[in-house]
Amino acid sequence: MTCELCGKPGDTKRALVEGVEMLLCSNCAGYGKAIKVPPAALMKVRKPVQRVEPELSVVSNYSVLIRQARESKGMTQKEFAQQMAEKESVIQHLENGKLEPPLKLARKLEQRLSISLIEEVKAGTVPEATKSEGFTFGDLIKVRKR
Ligand SMILES: [Zn+2]
Repeated sequence: MTCELCGKPGDTKRALVEGVEMLLCSNCAGYGKAIKVPPAALMKVRKPVQRVEPELSVVSNYSVLIRQARESKGMTQKEFAQQMAEKESVIQHLENGKLEPPLKLARKLEQRLSISLIEEVKAGTVPEATKSEGFTFGDLIKVRKR
């Protein structure tokens, strides 16, 4: 690099000369105030962390869980349907196993009833060791621990 003060080629360093950033050679460095260059690592744009989404599915005994949880809260199907803002027939179908709730509804049910309805499906190709507690979805999804 060429020194921006004296014009000599050679090793230069960034420095502030009266508030202006310049490249200075070692001879001229005394005129400026050295700038600390942040480590290259900090300059790099962070790559987004690639996260493998676990496959989620509704547990097979959802109908029993929903019914038991609702009954333990002393609610009728109708009352529960109102609280869920769903049709009573939807609750009936959920509880007799005719309707498997989609994940979105299952999450809502989980929250209302304080139960776990969603489980992580083990992907056959993923070795056990890489399955970790890394999947944190906060309180949105309670992954069943076995
Ligand atoms: Zn110079």
